Amino acid sequence: MSITEIFATNVFNEEVMKASLSSETFNSLNKTVEEGAPLDITVANEVASAMKDWAISKGATHFSHWFQPMTGITAEKHDSFISAPQGGKVILEFSGKELIKGESDASSFPNGGIRATFEARGFTAWDPTSYAFIKDKTLYIPTAFCAFNGEALDKKTPLLRSVEALNKQAMRVLRLLGNTTAKSVKVSIGAEQEYFLIDKKMGLLRPDLVFTGRTLFGAKPPKGQELEDHYFGSIKPRVKSFMEELDEELWKLGIPVKTEHNEAAPAQHEIAPIYSSVNVATDNNQLIMDLMKKTADKHGLICLLHEKPFAGVAGSGKHNNWSIETSDGENLLKPGKTPSENLQFLLFLASVIKAADDYQDLYRSAVASAGNDHRLGASEAPPAIISVYLGEDLLSALKALENHDLYKTTKTKMSLGVKILPTLSKDATDRNRTSPLAYTGNKFEFRMVGASDSTADSSVVLNVTVAESLRLFADELEKATDIEKAVHDIVVNTVKKHKRILFTGNNYATEWTEEAEKRGLKNLRSTPEAASILTDEKNVLLYERHKVFSYTEIASRQQIMFENYSRVINIEALTVVDMAKKNIFPAINSYVNDIINGINAKKSVGIDAYEDLRLSKKLSNLNSQIYVATEKLERLIVEAKKIKDAKTQAFYYHDEILSLMKEIRSYADEAEKNTASNVWPYPSYSDLLFSVN
Ligand code: ADP
Ligand code: MG
Repeated sequence: MSITEIFATNVFNEEVMKASLSSETFNSLNKTVEEGAPLDITVANEVASAMKDWAISKGATHFSHWFQPMTGITAEKHDSFISAPQGGKVILEFSGKELIKGESDASSFPNGGIRATFEARGFTAWDPTSYAFIKDKTLYIPTAFCAFNGEALDKKTPLLRSVEALNKQAMRVLRLLGNTTAKSVKVSIGAEQEYFLIDKKMGLLRPDLVFTGRTLFGAKPPKGQELEDHYFGSIKPRVKSFMEELDEELWKLGIPVKTEHNEAAPAQHEIAPIYSSVNVATDNNQLIMDLMKKTADKHGLICLLHEKPFAGVAGSGKHNNWSIETSDGENLLKPGKTPSENLQFLLFLASVIKAADDYQDLYRSAVASAGNDHRLGASEAPPAIISVYLGEDLLSALKALENHDLYKTTKTKMSLGVKILPTLSKDATDRNRTSPLAYTGNKFEFRMVGASDSTADSSVVLNVTVAESLRLFADELEKATDIEKAVHDIVVNTVKKHKRILFTGNNYATEWTEEAEKRGLKNLRSTPEAASILTDEKNVLLYERHKVFSYTEIASRQQIMFENYSRVINIEALTVVDMAKKNIFPAINSYVNDIINGINAKKSVGIDAYEDLRLSKKLSNLNSQIYVATEKLERLIVEAKKIKDAKTQAFYYHDEILSLMKEIRSYADEAEKNTASNVWPYPSYSDLLFSVN
């Protein structure tokens, strides 16, 4: 097998289109993709027909509009190519109309109340900027999903809108800086994906992993990641063969996965494709997650994408590496070679600094989920506090700008860039792994994203908030008589004003939490808190101004966040009750009975059984605590269900139920440590984490 032979063989990409479409159709489709020109139905018909022929030649029998509803995963509805048989012969058909638009029942997907205000129908609309592909004998057509009145019901629509918003404002700035050649500004991302692999047989014995994706019980293993021998360590044979098959499947789909290595925790790994346009990369990341699960299953493994499958062991994130580039291929976040390029670079850099500070709450909210709450703030993950890391060199360059106002003191106006930036070394920029948002030489790496999250939400927030900074910068520049001086002033003033968001130290340290509070930075600790800010006036204004969300859309998304949160914790709580009552309590109970029988037997022959007695008392006490707390948990679940308001309910799940679950767990974990392993009803952390070889 050679990579070049199989790469993108299952993708209806530019090459295939060139070969199968008339040049007229090809050009007019390109115009739609590049410039958003409206798509003619005759063009759509020809594309559909070519797509169908190509797909059938590859063995496909069905087609599917593929979309990303607000569940965070993808949805698909399959139709076969068969149309009404004529004279006993089956005809295979796929029209332009079927390519462009599909109908779907919006009420079966989360809609946060949008449906109630309108009708239940929704539709999917072809997104020609992401290639169609074949998987499981089905032609997949990437689409956006909307309610019938056009309100977005998915993750892709706002993503496309936010790219457009950023393009518009960045182009304004570029023109003001004298750039006449760039046609557009595009967003690229590269998503590093962390995950765990455990043995399937072992995993299926844990109802918590099966139902919730994380362990709700489990004492810490004697060996965790203290030795750091797993990170970049040699890859085990079963994992290796999983990775090989995964790579091959992803290459066929044209996904340029490049790196695969072990991560910090035992059984934890990472995969990363080479970056691409944010739209395609977001689709690709969904495919990667989907294929990881399916491929793992084939290899007798379970792939866990939960942010915190194991308490006390590093969790899994997804790093969103984000950059913006002109259609001429100029990366706007990369220091340039000439002074004026550097001035431009500093302006775009400042736009991100300002965005992150002004909209800290939105950055936090974009990565909020019940799963990620266990990770953000734990010792191995960025805290829930947003800060920006620039690297020492860049930071001191900015400080020099601020303090000495070099622009005014240098003789030649344009020496600003040369004076300051050549000292920037790329290496120095990438060494703070604890920062939530780190500048890494030519991009920003947003590290707070959860492993199971779509990359859409975090990208939307980056795009729209930076668009807003650029809008304000462009307004300034439009008024300026001396553009270079104006740029310089904007950069200096931005750094002055938003200094508090810049942080170089260790984000995991507890001192940082205190320091951040002094600086007035936000610390939204839980998902209900993070969801609450979505409808704050400044945020609604931002989204409306840039046409990314209407008020109704943002309110519906908030509603869905509350509902999802409650739903997840509810399932977890029910699983805790089930495991505690049906297996953990009885197991401890019978173990205690065994010990007591042993005590009696020992006593009858005159052997001292003092320690046995102590142990049985200890376990017996723990078991009573488990029982009482579990009964209480059952009552709270009933109470929670009665709460009508989604926000109040989400807070109730967080404040009352989640904390009680933790309490039950602490008793059970203590009991596990004191119970014979052959009696304990579930595989231990050691069994799970070291189950694959
Ligand atoms: P790390 O040191 O964090 O592992 P890498 O340099 O390996 O980072 O890159 C991680 C991801 O960033 C990859 O997906 C890579 O393709 C992506 N990346 C590199 N350059 C850019 C860029 N200019 N814009 C967006 N993503 C990029
Ligand atoms: Mg990284």
